[in-house]
Amino acid sequence: MSAKSYTDHRIIVVSAPSGAGKSTICRWVEETFDNFDISISHTTRKPRGDEQDGREYHFVESDEAFKEMINQNAFVEYAHVYSRYYYGTSWSSITDILDKDRNAVLDIDVQGAEQIKARFPHAELILVVPPSMTELARRLRERKTDDPEEIKRRLDRAREELTHAEKFDYILQNDDLDVSKAMMRNIIEQNPEAKSMRIAAMQPVLDSLMNESIDG
Ligand code: ADP
Ligand code: 5GP
Repeated sequence: MSAKSYTDHRIIVVSAPSGAGKSTICRWVEETFDNFDISISHTTRKPRGDEQDGREYHFVESDEAFKEMINQNAFVEYAHVYSRYYYGTSWSSITDILDKDRNAVLDIDVQGAEQIKARFPHAELILVVPPSMTELARRLRERKTDDPEEIKRRLDRAREELTHAEKFDYILQNDDLDVSKAMMRNIIEQNPEAKSMRIAAMQPVLDSLMNESIDG
């Protein structure tokens, strides 16, 4: 399938190091703005907690089944995340939303965000970053969804992901959640205040995160 331009419809891509808060922010957008829907990705990882097939993800039973979908060009983008599981955005997960005259929110990793921009140049890319790497480690532990080895893997990867920040239209530092929601509203409502989240203004924040060592 080729990309119809769909330029009248918003495609907002939210990426972040794991634990920085992108799912929290995406869910808030879907609940708060009645014309935005979260695109549901496919993954080979198993459901966690009360996750349900077709709600958080379309759970694919094997790598082979996922690769078969790749061969059928089902995906706009896909990635092998943490060298363990496949995750992918199907064409239909986006176009089903846009064809209903609604706007799409994507909660995907940094590599996926860049690929979405290549296919849909008007997509707006937002990188959510934590207040500090130490707080990121704390949130991952508190979330209690990953074992210590997985948390270490996610922290190691977090710094690498920050090196892609210049590909993003906006950097949102998720410290106080209410402030983050207000900043997200500025992007969605295209308010001039959103300019303060452009990379040029946010470079000192990124530098500080990159230079921080992770305690505990
Ligand atoms: P991601 O989707 O980026 O991996 P989540 O949205 O799952 O991250 O958030 C990670 C954890 O941090 C969750 O337990 C969430 O409730 C919490 N969290 C998210 N935003 C904030 C915030 N601004 N302040 C404190 N905790 C937060
Ligand atoms: P989790 O296992 O915590 O749900 O997600 C792990 C990572 O995979 C997160 O960074 C999440 O944003 C990313 N992810 C989820 N869906 C997709 C997708 O369709 N494509 C890509 N590239 N990454 C995804």
